[in-house]
Amino acid sequence: MIAAVAHADDTPATDGSGARLLTDPATLLERLGLDAALLPAARRAAERFPMRVPAGFVARMRPGDPADPLLRQVLPLADELATAGGFGADPVGDAAARVAPGLLHKYAGRALLLVTGACAIHCRYCFRREYPYADTGASPAGWEAAFTHLHADRSIRELILSGGDPLTLSNRRLRELVQAADAVPQLERLRIHTRQPVVDPGRIDAGLLAALRSRLPVVLVLHVNHAREIDAALVQACARLRAAGVTLLNQSVLLAGVNDAATTLAALSEALFAAGVLPYYLHLLDRVGGATHFEVSEQQALSIMGALRAMLPGYLVPRLVREEAGRPAKTPLC
Ligand SMILES: *Cc1c(COP(=O)(O)O)cnc(C)c1O
Ligand code: SF4
Repeated sequence: MIAAVAHADDTPATDGSGARLLTDPATLLERLGLDAALLPAARRAAERFPMRVPAGFVARMRPGDPADPLLRQVLPLADELATAGGFGADPVGDAAARVAPGLLHKYAGRALLLVTGACAIHCRYCFRREYPYADTGASPAGWEAAFTHLHADRSIRELILSGGDPLTLSNRRLRELVQAADAVPQLERLRIHTRQPVVDPGRIDAGLLAALRSRLPVVLVLHVNHAREIDAALVQACARLRAAGVTLLNQSVLLAGVNDAATTLAALSEALFAAGVLPYYLHLLDRVGGATHFEVSEQQALSIMGALRAMLPGYLVPRLVREEAGRPAKTPLC
C-alpha cells in the first residue's frame, strides 16, 4: 500500500497550525470550516488508506463546501467502507504483467517501472490504494533487475516511470534512473507519470530539470482532474518543463462529484491547453475496493463525451478509456 512507504525526499511538518502536509482529517475539516460530524467516518476510512493532503492543494478548495471537487478527491468518507461486487485489490491485472521487480510489461513496446510507492497526495479513488507495494520491488534495490530485463528485451522502446509518484524521489535517485535508461540502447522515449507538479509545483526547479536531462525525448504525463487544480504556480512549472523540451500530456479519471459534467471537463481541457498541456486519457474508474462512490456508469460517460466533443476542438478532447486485464492496450470506449 502506498502509505506504507515513507516519503523519499523531505518530511514536511504534518498538521498543527501552518502545516504543509495535512494527515489528520480533523485539521482538514477545521481549515475549511466544515462540520465535525464528518470526522468519525473520516478517521475510520483513513485507517484503511491514510489521508495525505498538501496544504497548497487545500488552498485551492472552497471553504465551507463539503462537495468541493478538490476536497472530494482527498477526504476519507464513510462511503469508502462499502464493498461492492467487482471491486477488488488488483482490478487491472498488474500482478500478472510483472516481468521483473517493479517492472510491468503489458503493452507492446513499452514497460512501466514502479519506482516508488510514495505519493505527495493520497487520492481516495486511486487504484493503487490496495496494491501490494511490498511485493513489487518498487525500490532502488529492485531497479537493477528491472534494467537487466530492459537490456534483454529489445522490443521495449519506451520506459515509463510510475508508482506511486516518481517525482517524490530525490534528484539523485531520478538521475540514476535517467542515466540507466539512457544506457539501454533500444530505448527511444522516456515517460514519467506524475501528479507531483500539481500539488508541489516548486518541485519543478533547476535541480529536477538537470536530473531529467536525457538522450531520450521526455514525455511527462500529468494527472489533473479539475480546472481548479491548475493555479499560477503550476502554469509556471509547466512552462519550465516545456522550456526544457519536455512534452506535456494529462490524464484524468472520470469521477462522480468531481468532474462528471461536460462543462467541467471542457474547462479542464481549456485550462490545460493554456498551460501548454494536451489532454491524453480520461480513464473510467478502476474498480478498486473503497472507491465505489466515485464510479460513473459507462452510459453516462459516453453521454458526457458526446457533449464534450460538441464543445471543443478534437485535440482538446481526451480519449475515454478503461483498463482491462489481459488486453493489448487500454480499451477505448468511443
Ligand atoms: C497505462 C499503462 C501503460 C501506458 O499505456 P499507453 O497507452 O501507452 O499510455 C503502459 N504500461 C502499463 C502497465 C500501463 O498500465
Ligand atoms: S498521486 Fe496518483 S498514484 Fe498517488 S494516490 Fe494519487 S492517483 Fe494514486
